[in-house]
Amino acid sequence: MSNRTAGNRRRNAGREAVENRGLLNIRGSRSFEFCDSNKIPNRFTAWQYAENKDAEFAENKAFFATENPRNGADRPGEYSRNLSMFAKSSLKMEGMAGALLEPQSTNLRKIVHVDMDAFYASVEQRDDPALRGKPVVVAWKGKRSVVCAASYEARKFGVHSAMPAVTAERLCPQAIFVPPDFVRYKAVSRAVREIFQRHTDLIEPLSLDEAYLDVTRNKTGLPTATKVAIAIRCQIREELSLTASAGVAPNKFLAKIASDWRKPNGLFVIQPKDLESFLPPLEVGRIPGVGKVTESRLKQMGIVTVGDLRGFDLALLEARFGRYGARLYRLARGIDENPVTPNRPTKSISAEDTFEQDIPLAETEAVIRRLAEKVWSASRRETRVARTVVLKLKTKEFAIRTRSLTPPVPPASCEELTAIALSLRDRVDLGPEQLYRLVGVGLGNFRDPMESSVAIFDAASPEALVE
Ligand SMILES: [Mg+2]
Repeated sequence: MSNRTAGNRRRNAGREAVENRGLLNIRGSRSFEFCDSNKIPNRFTAWQYAENKDAEFAENKAFFATENPRNGADRPGEYSRNLSMFAKSSLKMEGMAGALLEPQSTNLRKIVHVDMDAFYASVEQRDDPALRGKPVVVAWKGKRSVVCAASYEARKFGVHSAMPAVTAERLCPQAIFVPPDFVRYKAVSRAVREIFQRHTDLIEPLSLDEAYLDVTRNKTGLPTATKVAIAIRCQIREELSLTASAGVAPNKFLAKIASDWRKPNGLFVIQPKDLESFLPPLEVGRIPGVGKVTESRLKQMGIVTVGDLRGFDLALLEARFGRYGARLYRLARGIDENPVTPNRPTKSISAEDTFEQDIPLAETEAVIRRLAEKVWSASRRETRVARTVVLKLKTKEFAIRTRSLTPPVPPASCEELTAIALSLRDRVDLGPEQLYRLVGVGLGNFRDPMESSVAIFDAASPEALVE
């Protein structure tokens, strides 16, 4: 085993351990869901993996039968079932596998973004037939809890993830609330990943339920990225009884937009020749990384669509948004050079807590200290050093304030991190009367220790460091 692998394994094991202690979010090589092991009921058994493995060969055979009608002749039912599934899910496919996906375009990447549909809720519905076809909300019970996932039946009532559970209950009183079972979701996520691995090793997970895949060279010899995406969706459906949406494009940015385009259970392909018709009318809020804050700042500049964004020159966008402005400039033109990186280095580590009752800023010290400790101990497992400290606050009215500081010398102890996080409260000017529902502490802007000690703000906006 190489040192690097051993190191990664150790670090990852460390992350699991810390994560299981409470709310900790590590951005980078792995994205974990917030997860408190104390609250997780242990009911990981529902899915018959062994049986599934045995069925794998037959399933693959069934799939390849769909690729060649003559081979499928002995399983006509299978063939027509799969075919109708393809017909339903890949409307946009025909005639689109041209320039982008031909082997001669060697300078173009072929990226697939796969996103499971309503993942946690779908797993619950799969494993409990009583939940199928019903509005299901995955959330812990309690006044302060938020929705982790909502089934499409619940979404019809306006329920969506990250919404307070009480709001979901009000919008959809008949919803069935199920407590999250992250142990099981992680196991399913691993099974999905095993399917990805049949096609490529260049997999970059974004969370338990989505990943970028670089299939420019794929293991199965399928001729186009579209075919790879179809195969993956088919295998996920046949083997795991779950649906995924996929986007196919020459880069990550476009692939992510594409996977969202025909959601749920859809496939969408964006080719270079489609860019000029596809991108300009797109709302800027669709651009990954443009959150509510950036969106409203862009709106103030009169920018609503990607077409509007193109009207602004590079220098101006950089002046307004720093390095992210330069990225916006390129994204507006469909340019994204970021490769699919299987082991993304950590970008940020953060922890946050929602209070039982809203409290004034002056009373947040104890929680900030505790969160700082948690973040500090997690950061000790990184070989790189974090330069930026972030404090996040959410007001009673759900307004988010983040304050960050990049000191000339990175914080070298838990005490220093805590002191900075506490001092950042002085820069929140909402008055002593303001009540807060949540506080978060984060470390970001991780650099190699040997890198220049000049403090440079990372391209990520401070808001992006803690969510
Ligand atoms: Mg999803």
